[in-house]
Amino acid sequence: MARYTGSQCRLCRRETVKLFLKGDRCFTEKCAVERRQYPPGQHGQRRSKLSDYGMQLREKQKVRNSYGVLERQFRNCFYRAESKKGVTGEVLLQMMETRLDNVVYRMGLAPNRNSARQLVLHGHFLVNGKEVNIPSCSVGVNSVVEAKEASRTIPIIADSLSKAEQRGVPAWVEVDFQNFKGKVLELPSREDIQIPAEEQLIVELYSK
Ligand code: SF4
Repeated sequence: MARYTGSQCRLCRRETVKLFLKGDRCFTEKCAVERRQYPPGQHGQRRSKLSDYGMQLREKQKVRNSYGVLERQFRNCFYRAESKKGVTGEVLLQMMETRLDNVVYRMGLAPNRNSARQLVLHGHFLVNGKEVNIPSCSVGVNSVVEAKEASRTIPIIADSLSKAEQRGVPAWVEVDFQNFKGKVLELPSREDIQIPAEEQLIVELYSK
């Protein structure tokens, strides 16, 4: 399965915003965006005015990279969002947010989406009692996601969950920290989705 294998921090620096792709490091002064607030590369410090297309492209890249999705999959997701009821941009974000790897991350069962994706691929989680190893699988309302009994001693899952217990989880999920399981209470609203992007620009980009 294809995935981006380059530097995570470079993706944040390209957008000059924190996309929180690395977990704990993102909250420290080691964060690359905190240290160098300009895009990477030889011309990163040049001042340039973005065209309309440029702005749309940057918003799309911001969301796509936040969720670690490749271009074709993201575009297909957009087409599916377009065919659903509701505001397309919000539906798109909702679809991204309810991917299994993201739900695992939001519940605190993994420190970041990349690790969540790998843990899901390795079959460490059950959805409604059944093993699911597809990171893009959509998790519906009232679905229960839990770490398998044998996987609960994996340090990355246990550490992440104890940190999430202190930090808190989003209101649209409920987590039973003792039993390594969580439930999706409702679909996340736009306010619940803390991605610093203007989704309307993504809709304009793909509607050309
Ligand atoms: Fe982005 Fe986290 Fe790296 Fe900061 S530490 S640049 S937020 S991935």
